Amino acid sequence: MDNKKISILGIPFDNLTRVEFLTQLLMRMENQQKTFLVTANPEIVMYAKEDRAYFDLLLKADYIAPDGIGVVRAAKKLGTPIKERVPGFELMLGLLELSSMHKKRVYFIGAQEEVISKAVENASKIWPDLEIVGYHHGYFDHSDPEMIERVRKLEPDLILVAFGFPRQENWIHQYLKQADRGIAIGVGGSFDVLSGKAKRAPKVVQKLHVEWLYRLIKQPSRYKRMLALPAFMKEINKQQAQKRVTKHEE
Ligand code: UDP
Repeated sequence: MDNKKISILGIPFDNLTRVEFLTQLLMRMENQQKTFLVTANPEIVMYAKEDRAYFDLLLKADYIAPDGIGVVRAAKKLGTPIKERVPGFELMLGLLELSSMHKKRVYFIGAQEEVISKAVENASKIWPDLEIVGYHHGYFDHSDPEMIERVRKLEPDLILVAFGFPRQENWIHQYLKQADRGIAIGVGGSFDVLSGKAKRAPKVVQKLHVEWLYRLIKQPSRYKRMLALPAFMKEINKQQAQKRVTKHEE
C-alpha cells in the first residue's frame, strides 16, 4: 500500500493515525509481510542528519511513525501537516494487543536482564493469551549472527527491539534480511516503562505535550539529549524561511 509520505529534513514520515498504522500492520502480519517499522522523534531526525549511514538505513524502513509532538509541529510549520502524533510506546501496546487477539507470535529483545524479564512478566499479566515465543536482554554483541538465527528460528510475527537508536535499527535491518516474516520495531526505552522501572509521565502531562520536561526532571542525565529538540526546531525554522524565499522568487 502506498501511503502519503511527509518529508521532514529528508525523513519520509507516514501520515497515518495510530489506528491506521495498526490496521495496516495487522494486515501485514496476516500476510506474513516482513516489515521494518521505525518510530522517529526529533532526536532521531537530527541524528540522521549527521550520520549518512543511519539516514540511508531509515530510508529502507517500510514505515516511519511520527513519534513526538516536535515532529507534528515541524510538519505543520513546513505547511505539510501530519494527522497526529504516534508515540512508539503506544504503537508497541497496540501491536501487543493485536498479537494477543490474533494469536501472533511475539519475541522481546533488549534492555537489561531484570528489566526484560519483568517487562515480559507484565505483558503476560496484561495479555494472558499473548504468545511470547521468547525473550533476551540487549547486552550482547549486536553483530553476532547467532542471535539473529536464534530468533529467526522461532518465527515470530512481531519482534520488539529495545537497544536504543541507532543500534536497534541496525540490528532490525540485519535481522529482516535473514527472516522470512515479522514486523520488527525499535522501541527504545519502552521495556523500561513496561517493566515499571521507568514511569511514563502522568496523562495530564502527556496531554499538555510536555512529556519531555517531565522526563528531564525525573532523569537529569537526559539533559544533553534534550538539546536535540531546540536544534531540531531551529533547523525547521531555517527550512521554513528557505521555503518562503523560494516561493517569493517563483
Ligand atoms: N540497551 C540495550 N543494549 C545496549 C544499549 C542499550 O539493550 O547495548 C537498552 C537499554 O537498557 C534501554 C534501551 O536500550 O532499555 C534504551 O536505552 P537508551 O536510553 O540508552 O536509548 P535511547 O532511549 O536513548 O534510544
